[in-house]
Amino acid sequence: MSNSVLPGDKIAIMEEYEAGNNACADGHIVRATVIGQSEIDKKERVVNVKNNKPISIPEKGDIVIGTVEAVMGSMIAVLINYINSKPVKSQVECICATRSLRKKNVALVKDLVKLKIIGHLNGAIHATIQDPGLGVLFTKCRKCGMDVKPMRDIIKCVECGWTDDRKLSSDFLKSDFLKVRE
Ligand SMILES: [Zn+2]
Repeated sequence: MSNSVLPGDKIAIMEEYEAGNNACADGHIVRATVIGQSEIDKKERVVNVKNNKPISIPEKGDIVIGTVEAVMGSMIAVLINYINSKPVKSQVECICATRSLRKKNVALVKDLVKLKIIGHLNGAIHATIQDPGLGVLFTKCRKCGMDVKPMRDIIKCVECGWTDDRKLSSDFLKSDFLKVRE
């Protein structure tokens, strides 16, 4: 049996159980020292608190950087790698509507994009790409997979010369974003 506890919560009395992981004895009371789930080990007569792994969920207004996982007709799905420049490993995705951008290839799968979270709806995290700072940070040529250079509002492949459109971020190919990628 386990229960959600906060630091300082009474989780047992010393007469019954000893303080285990993430717990401490305070007089004859055993208290939690972290947020988590208290678990009583009857065999060892110990009470432990299992620390919850923090899951990073972006909130409205957060700036996220992520990898495009899927491109659908009117939206892209993005696996979030950074929330407000902090790396996250929680495998959270957001979706971003692209219909109103009037671009054929707003972003491609595997592109790195910068988005702003606009809110949560029906269990999905929604983001926008419509701001000069938002958009593609890193992309490749759709034809040959080589690097591309921006030319006004389009991009051109340095290898095969293929031109394409993307919703580029004003940070496209900037060195400070490359630091963020490391
Ligand atoms: Zn190319």
